[in-house]
Amino acid sequence: MPRFMTKMFKIALPDGSVKEMPEGSTPADVAAAIGPGLAKAALAAKIDGEVRDIMRPFEGDASLALITSRDEKDALELVRHDFAHILAEAVQNLYPGTQITFGPATDDGFYYDFAPTAEHGAFTEEELPAIEAEMRRIIAADKPLVREVWDRARVRQFFIDHGEAFKAEWVMELPEGEPITMYKTGHGEADWIDLCRGPHLASTGKLDPSAFKLTRVSGAYWRGDPKNPMLSRIYGTAWLNKKQLDAYLVRLEEAAKRDHRKIGQEMDLFHLQAEAHGSVFWHPNGYIVWRELEAYMRRRLDASGYLEVKTPQLMDARQWEKSGHWGKYRENMFVVPDEIPSTDDDAQIFSGTADLMALKPMNCPAHVLIFNQGIKSYRDLPLRLAEFGCCHRNEPHGALHGILRVRQFTQDDAHIFVTERQLVDEVVEFCDLLDSVYRDLGFDSYAIKLALRPEQRYGSDEEWDRAEQVLRDAVAKAGRATEEYGWEELPGEGAFYAPKLEFHLTDAIGRTWQVGTIQADTVLPERLDANYIGEDGQKHRPVMLHRAIIGTFERFIGILIEHYAGKFPLWLAPVQAVVATIVSDADGYAEDVAAKLAAAGIRVEPDLRNEKINYKVREHSLAKVPLLLVVGKREAEEGTVAIRRLGSDEHQKMMSIDEAVAMIQAEAVPPDLA
Ligand SMILES: [Zn+2]
Ligand SMILES: [Zn+2]
Repeated sequence: MPRFMTKMFKIALPDGSVKEMPEGSTPADVAAAIGPGLAKAALAAKIDGEVRDIMRPFEGDASLALITSRDEKDALELVRHDFAHILAEAVQNLYPGTQITFGPATDDGFYYDFAPTAEHGAFTEEELPAIEAEMRRIIAADKPLVREVWDRARVRQFFIDHGEAFKAEWVMELPEGEPITMYKTGHGEADWIDLCRGPHLASTGKLDPSAFKLTRVSGAYWRGDPKNPMLSRIYGTAWLNKKQLDAYLVRLEEAAKRDHRKIGQEMDLFHLQAEAHGSVFWHPNGYIVWRELEAYMRRRLDASGYLEVKTPQLMDARQWEKSGHWGKYRENMFVVPDEIPSTDDDAQIFSGTADLMALKPMNCPAHVLIFNQGIKSYRDLPLRLAEFGCCHRNEPHGALHGILRVRQFTQDDAHIFVTERQLVDEVVEFCDLLDSVYRDLGFDSYAIKLALRPEQRYGSDEEWDRAEQVLRDAVAKAGRATEEYGWEELPGEGAFYAPKLEFHLTDAIGRTWQVGTIQADTVLPERLDANYIGEDGQKHRPVMLHRAIIGTFERFIGILIEHYAGKFPLWLAPVQAVVATIVSDADGYAEDVAAKLAAAGIRVEPDLRNEKINYKVREHSLAKVPLLLVVGKREAEEGTVAIRRLGSDEHQKMMSIDEAVAMIQAEAVPPDLA
């Protein structure tokens, strides 16, 4: 073909300039044309917003943004996915006959699920260093990662020929006729290949061999189904460079020290046991934290115009059918027959013919049932019904984690019934209340995200446009649609019936936790026929806002424990002060001091044991008691106490009993009452 016939594509760059590139050229060519620095730094390309391989040729006019390590989020995801491929190649090099399945990127790295040979059995952590070494060898070889498009039959035959039964099974579930991409690592005979959507970096040498670490091994069922074969999953963490990896490993170590299960035991807050999987046994100390938090939340809600209610634990299955939960949510519900169990040892405990009831997995329908009692007028709105609602959700045992992920939990739940016109202001008010609660509870930093319509959804596009705009407007009106508040919109992440605002706390070691949420729902009021009489004398549907600030008490207390590493602010501390004697001569005096503190409403314990004071100090520090009042003979004679603060290097402070009582009392006031 003569040269002048070459088709030229217009490639628009982020700075507004346009480059003419001949057909067949790639984003890498554009990077090279701009300069050698960029050519080296560019990892991948965003073509019309979609992340693609840097070596994949343009298919027409396009907008192009090159991705470098500065685009951390995209770069991390690419790098982690590459590491997953390299892990799989390394494992197959070292353990021939091992079959590959899936290996995605995760929030901190990647994993890959393997089917080991029968002789080898599951992988063990002892094998990880050798696998890491093989991965480093593959990175050092700087093998190109090449994208190829195959048809389904060829892919299937390839995997059958190579003894990859899992991949051969999977590929048949991809739609027929659609081109399938395969990624080759290396060239020619020595290459390794995986079925993959991509994208990937141009070659393995783009990865930093010191920026990853294989962390652990676990079992995982093929496609997550317990009826399928058990696979062996190898996890790794991966970053852009060693500095990031090291910082992450330090954070992990710090997180382990703060583990709420460990601190919960040291402070005697709660325990869990197999007889009540996923339900917490709160000990006296832990329940004090709960009660203080609940009392605080109740005061805040009372002052913000909420009305507290209490609704049934068990409701007839037919009610759950009406609300729509029975169809979509049943597998997460605990179902109970409405029948007296048989005491006859030979008979079945239940007949199997009784009506079914279910423990509530959420409070929403019950709140609509309260709303529906009597006639509501527009003057009653907004109506804010709050409940510290105890719910049960039937989650697999493997998904449970300490008190952070449980099956019985209590939400700080509320539903606000509003007219369309009241929506924005009500959401603004909620944002303000939530902001003040988080700051009171010791979190200065949190992010607000708007989860937008998912692919599968109820309702028309116009309804979604409007619902999303309400939440967007409210956050802007509250002055929080800013970078400081991590404002971000998340396409596709809303619930199937409504978009939602998510509030993500940042804790003391930089981890984030989604706790707060608010969403505007028109579906449930419709299903349960909620209505109010408007100014026009006609019936109207209210909109229902579902909202929570701390989420659940269980999880939030777990987060608080890890955030504070057990060193709660005084108002939340289960034991606020211990009066410890140095000598037994001071026993009577110590009891007097403790009695005075207790009379002033302070949670105090005397420690009169015949132990060395250093031993007592160590023990109470481990139990995270904020204040230790040390008394000996001299203090008894002078009517003073020596106060030591937990975790403070400061010397102990001497003061009179009255001064001590006044100081502790002032410090123990909850933040909303101070
Ligand atoms: Zn891949
Ligand atoms: Zn709800």
